[in-house]
Formats: sequence, C-alpha cells, structure tokens
Amino acid sequence: MQCPYCGYLNDHVVDSRESKDHQVVRRRRECLSCHHRFTTYESLENIPYFVVKRNGERELFDRNKVMSGLMKAMHKRRVAAGELDRVVDEVERVLHAQEGRELSTEAIGQIVMDQLKDLDKVAYVRFASVYRHFEDIDEFMDELKTLLHQR
Ligand SMILES: [Zn+2]
Repeated sequence: MQCPYCGYLNDHVVDSRESKDHQVVRRRRECLSCHHRFTTYESLENIPYFVVKRNGERELFDRNKVMSGLMKAMHKRRVAAGELDRVVDEVERVLHAQEGRELSTEAIGQIVMDQLKDLDKVAYVRFASVYRHFEDIDEFMDELKTLLHQR
C-alpha cells in the first residue's frame, strides 16, 4: 500500500481485524519510511458474474461447474489438478474483464477448449463434443481428424 503521507510503497501491518460479517478486513499499517500509521479496508468484490445459456437464460457463474465438466473430460487422463485450475483461472480472468460481467456458455466453452488443446488432445475432443453439441458423428470425426493432422 502506498503511504498517504509520503508516498512510500512499503509498510508493515500492525493490526488486522475482520468485520463481524467477515466481509471487510481492516488493517492498521505503518509506513516503513515516515512511520505514519494509516488504515486500509479491504473487501471481497462480491458482485456476481453470469453465464448466458443457449436459451438466453442467465445463471450465476460457478467455478465448480466448469471444473466438474473438466474433470469429466479429463477422466483417466494424466493431467495435474493444478493444470485444470489454471484452465478455470483463465475462464475467470476473461469473465472478470467483461464489462457486462457475463459470458455465453459458448464463449466459456471456447476458452476452455483453447486451453485444453495445448494441454491434452483427448480431453479436448471429449470436452468439445459436449460443449459444441456436434450435430452428428461426421462433424465429430472431422474435428478429430483435424487434430490428428496437426501433430
Ligand atoms: Zn510514509
């Protein structure tokens, strides 16, 4: 935190206290340069993000839902849980950057697929088959062929 008195960028926290509802953390800080003390309040950004479904309905974005879809696609694949976390992190990063605080199901699926493509081809195809709702098996095979040719 930048010191409001001298602008110095380093301080140490003297005291840290949560509000009763656990929504806000109040911190008493001391500037390491001029030793003035000041207080900061930190709160979680508690505004919900939405997913717009194909039928136009909106639902709350749920990180766990994306993760469980990924886990299914990753069934029996050797990918570390941390890697999957990074895929979902990327979805959240893009979502947070949206002005309207919402993304379509397709857009989310696309982000996940882009990440999976580099991570695990089999998982990618599995995931793509669910999220793109391939019209028929030919379309699915085309996707698979494209992937195999990329090797
Ligand atoms: Zn200072």
